[in-house]
Amino acid sequence: MDQYRVFGNPIKQSRSPAIHQIFAQQTQQQLNYQSEYVEVKNFEKTISDFVESGAKGANITLPFKERAMELCHQLTDRAKLAGAVNTLTFIDGQIFGDNTDGEGLVKDLLNNDINLKNSRILILGAGGAAKGVILPLLAHEPEKIVIANRTVSKAEDLITKFNNDKLSATGFNDLDEGEFTLIVNATSASLSGTFPAIPKALVANAYCYDMVYGNDLTPFLLWAKENGAKKVVDGLGMLVGQAAESFRVWRNVLPEIGPVLEKLRVGG
Ligand code: NDP
Repeated sequence: MDQYRVFGNPIKQSRSPAIHQIFAQQTQQQLNYQSEYVEVKNFEKTISDFVESGAKGANITLPFKERAMELCHQLTDRAKLAGAVNTLTFIDGQIFGDNTDGEGLVKDLLNNDINLKNSRILILGAGGAAKGVILPLLAHEPEKIVIANRTVSKAEDLITKFNNDKLSATGFNDLDEGEFTLIVNATSASLSGTFPAIPKALVANAYCYDMVYGNDLTPFLLWAKENGAKKVVDGLGMLVGQAAESFRVWRNVLPEIGPVLEKLRVGG
């Protein structure tokens, strides 16, 4: 059976094996997908052993997405611009790198009936996840995308890479009220129970999305809901969406996201 794995540290919490198992059943594909914890110092050797074992592909998660890129013989444009890969495909000993995180976000936004064409998007955060979603978002022709980050210089560096006049960079304190139709929290602040200090009026009537997910609403989404957000959505759908896109890259068939998301939400 074709072998796939997700490599990360930590990895116990990963829902990818469950997601890919459901995709395989749904599309009647024969494959085996496991998760593997990797010691930080062993990453490169672990991947090369996996390639040599005859495996077909892998997902890469924190903190290895940048290091994985260095191992690739070829990269897609979206992986190059993201500066990180989450999907590896092995063909004749060669490693092909891709980044499906952005596509996962876009799929989930569209599944939630959030229109992107001519939208005014605010992305909070300028780390790997923010970088990965810019190109797929631009493909849907928004009016503008503003990247706001705690460390403003990182947001400025990020937009210079893209050379697109729809993009601009700023700090959290310089945002104008009522300007955005969609706000995406791409910071990791939710993981420590906080969120970026942006003006309350920004979230009123805006769609608010947090890449982080959990059993309860994240602090950002809770706050946005209390302050009149049009709709709040967490990042579980993005996770399933990026997995579906990886599955498509590997198997050439795009699984359905909705039923999987439903199962995961019911399962807690
Ligand atoms: P990085 O570590 O690369 O970037 C973290 C970002 O968060 C930086 O912009 C950083 O700002 C900002 N930040 C961290 N803490 C705070 C804070 N307390 N207040 C304000 N800003 C803060 O992480 P990633 O970009 O890889 O991931 C970001 C989040 O997205 C993670 O929580 C990750 O789990 C999630 N994610 C979810 C996915 C999904 O499928 N749902 C896929 C990918 C990521 P600064 O530059 O100033 O340090």
